[in-house]
Amino acid sequence: METNERKYSNFITEIIDEDLKSGRYKKVHTRFPPEPNGFLHIGHAKSICLNFGLAEDYGGLCNLRFDDTNPEKEEDIYVKSIIEDIKWLGFDWGDRLYYASDYFEQLYEYAVQLIKKGKAYVDSLSAEEISEYRGTPTTPGKESPYRNRTVEENLDLFERMRAGEFKDGEHVLRAKIDMASPNMNLRDPVMYRIKHAHHHRTGNKWCIYPMYDWAHGQSDSIEGITHSICTLEFENHRPLYNWFLDELGIHHPRQIEFARLNLNYTVMSKRKLLELVENNYVDGWDDPRMPTLSGMRRRGYTPESIRNFADRVGVAKRDGIIDIALLEHSVREDLNKRAWRVLAVLRPLKITITNFPSGETEWLDAVNNPEDESYGKRKIPFSNEIYIEEGDFQEEPHKKFYRLAPGREVRLRYAYIIKCEEVIKDENGNVIELKCTYDPDTKSGSGKSNKKVKGTIHWVSAKHAIDAEVRLYDRLFSVENPAGDKEKDFKEFINPNSLEILQNCKVEPGLADATLDKHYQFERTGYFYLDSKYSTKEKPVFNRTVSLRDTWAKIAKKK
Ligand code: ATP
Ligand code: MG
Repeated sequence: METNERKYSNFITEIIDEDLKSGRYKKVHTRFPPEPNGFLHIGHAKSICLNFGLAEDYGGLCNLRFDDTNPEKEEDIYVKSIIEDIKWLGFDWGDRLYYASDYFEQLYEYAVQLIKKGKAYVDSLSAEEISEYRGTPTTPGKESPYRNRTVEENLDLFERMRAGEFKDGEHVLRAKIDMASPNMNLRDPVMYRIKHAHHHRTGNKWCIYPMYDWAHGQSDSIEGITHSICTLEFENHRPLYNWFLDELGIHHPRQIEFARLNLNYTVMSKRKLLELVENNYVDGWDDPRMPTLSGMRRRGYTPESIRNFADRVGVAKRDGIIDIALLEHSVREDLNKRAWRVLAVLRPLKITITNFPSGETEWLDAVNNPEDESYGKRKIPFSNEIYIEEGDFQEEPHKKFYRLAPGREVRLRYAYIIKCEEVIKDENGNVIELKCTYDPDTKSGSGKSNKKVKGTIHWVSAKHAIDAEVRLYDRLFSVENPAGDKEKDFKEFINPNSLEILQNCKVEPGLADATLDKHYQFERTGYFYLDSKYSTKEKPVFNRTVSLRDTWAKIAKKK
């Protein structure tokens, strides 16, 4: 395929182009290899978009493979959630859903081959001794006294390890490479350890489990992967993966490393996210404040906006931190195109319109989406009692306040201009109601009057509005890099105001039929999405996906 027909161009595609040109590979075959020990987050989404995106771009294939080599931390619920999340993002692995555990038998055979070649041995040092013997990056390691066991002895011990004759930790299988290598990964790395543990797929069949470093490269090879794309921390592991593949003489994928995606104001390590979930700092993995795909979905992020974001950040060879405002910008950009505009009042203040006949309803035209005519129009009810936003009235208006105040006029969106005639207070002096008059000649779009006012506000008819709960979110952490201070626990930086629940919101009647396949813009207050967990038919609950103010656009303008 010609370069100019493709969507992507970066240092990875340059390498792939070279490989196709030189004939090293004839097609492109990638994979996304999650470990099922947590839910996917936005960093994983970057990797998914990259691997599936490259395959699409080159007319190749991308597999989904669970790297399930660690029985203790892995569970089926994670497998299910990962599958759901990748589908939701819009990628398809066809019939190529694999598990590293599918290859346990093959990996065992490969290990036997290495033992027979004198390239692997059973070591009986303890874990502490092994780590002590490894040396440090600046001093060479020491060879284990068991390193020169005969092939026969190694084969016998390895077979008995598999048969369950030994306890956890009694022996390990190690590659015989070089205890003095400047690359610590080549100092006779452990290939198998004994673990009498139940595995989510193989049950109790195995009591020896391959180490990630032993399983990963061979799994890629078995699947005929051409380009093993992974994050930078594996750069130092590449010589080891190459060594294994060369010693075994099997298909050799090319490994390419890129920088992890990091976002400010969040944490991305699965261990830390699990900590937040297990200690109830958040409402599960899908809490709308979490950087997980399930959290973002619940909050109302769209797959398209996440994919656009992933494309925008591109791929880098050095670690950096991306501003979360860029992600939110991508979300707004997409929602602006697709959201249904509605009127909803979050903090209601009642208004009685004294010159509008009580008991009467006027149905007014409202536009569903100014960005897209095909969304059409709807009718919204107007009556003598309405709610406006508390914040749209000031008894003593400050200088630049152009909305409602005693004696002042304001336009009601899609309706009329009203004038505040009287302020009613409770015994504590709080404003509880306004009495206003409306000017019947100022109906929006009627062209009757050319009266102009500076402010337009949103409102709902009190009689017709339905009750709703609204959840407003702020960043989960109050500092840019919550995990950056090694002296402090990242949980100390949790933002105590990251969730605000408003119970008494009033929304236009059509929202009684809100569904999860629609995104809404509550005019002037943000983009909202029905909460899949707490919403009921009686009382819908809406999550604010993002506010309307685009901080990224501002930053970009300044630059
Ligand atoms: P762990 O520490 O448990 O290995 P992990 O985040 O690397 O955590 P994996 O399940 O191994 O989780 O990740 C699956 C794939 O996603 C890997 O190929 C990994 O490189 C990639 N990945 C994980 N985090 C990021 C990130 N922040 N940016 C880009 N890719 C990522
Ligand atoms: Mg990993």
